[in-house]
Amino acid sequence: MVSTEISYGQKFKKMFDSIFMERVHRFVSNDFTIRASAVNATEVVREMQRIQNTNPLPTIAVGRAMVGALLLASHLKEKQQVGLYVRGDGPMGRVYAEAHFEGQVRGYTPHTYFEPAQYVPGLSLKEHIGSGVLSVTRHIPFQKQPAHGTVELVSSEIGEDIGHYLIQSHQIRSIISLGVYLDTYGKVQSAGGVLVEVMPGVEDDVVDILLKNSQDVKSSISEEILKGGNVVEFVKPYLKGIDFTELDHNYPINYYCPCNEDRVLRALETLGIQELDDMIANKETAQVMCQMCGKPYDVLPEKLTEIKNKLYRQTLN
Ligand SMILES: [Zn+2]
Repeated sequence: MVSTEISYGQKFKKMFDSIFMERVHRFVSNDFTIRASAVNATEVVREMQRIQNTNPLPTIAVGRAMVGALLLASHLKEKQQVGLYVRGDGPMGRVYAEAHFEGQVRGYTPHTYFEPAQYVPGLSLKEHIGSGVLSVTRHIPFQKQPAHGTVELVSSEIGEDIGHYLIQSHQIRSIISLGVYLDTYGKVQSAGGVLVEVMPGVEDDVVDILLKNSQDVKSSISEEILKGGNVVEFVKPYLKGIDFTELDHNYPINYYCPCNEDRVLRALETLGIQELDDMIANKETAQVMCQMCGKPYDVLPEKLTEIKNKLYRQTLN
């Protein structure tokens, strides 16, 4: 019976996913004053690099933003999503990532092939992103307008900037560590992060314990993952001296792009009437590729004419 087979298949997939797929692990202190999350995001950052073929520094920038977005999203509620948009005045100033509570994540920078004059150890992002702002957008279902928060970049290394956003916009003190580890060819070997948030009104001595703990952590999460370490084990040193529990959050993380033809058509509007006219005159089928996931879309000349007419009508209004 086919139907039974499908349901067995689905059951098996669910079981397989829950054992083998990475997910964001969530924790809460037993007195509910501290919450934490941690993730091994190696596969999704690797997938981003595979699709976009990013050079080392853009990989680190987008990877850190993706990990940060996953950690923030895990503290939201069902069907909510968060977007991080870094806008700096440096040559690699724009970095974007978004993640859903349910584990979908994507990331992008237009500076795919950025190369610094020389690579220095530690691959700092500061001088390449420059100074500017971090905007955080939270989408909540059934709310027309997303919630925005924008803060100045404090370090342009992304992690500290997210921490700065949390304190400025939500009065949440936090400890955050984001890591992307590349091999000598610039390929992603591991990526992950941990975020510990202290709820407003918590005593300073609790914060002091957390700060001391984080100073005692000697290796980054990306190094731990590379050594084969378990994410759950990695979060323990951050919460030393605090009783905590892991929460259920059984959503496998995956690289996901919600692009569709409508969005692609809207993107074509930015070309303007003149360029669309040229393409129509040449009877060209426009081939448009989603930059975030690499999915190709063919747009026929008739569609191009439709878009052009729409733009033309707008100029008359
Ligand atoms: Zn896409």
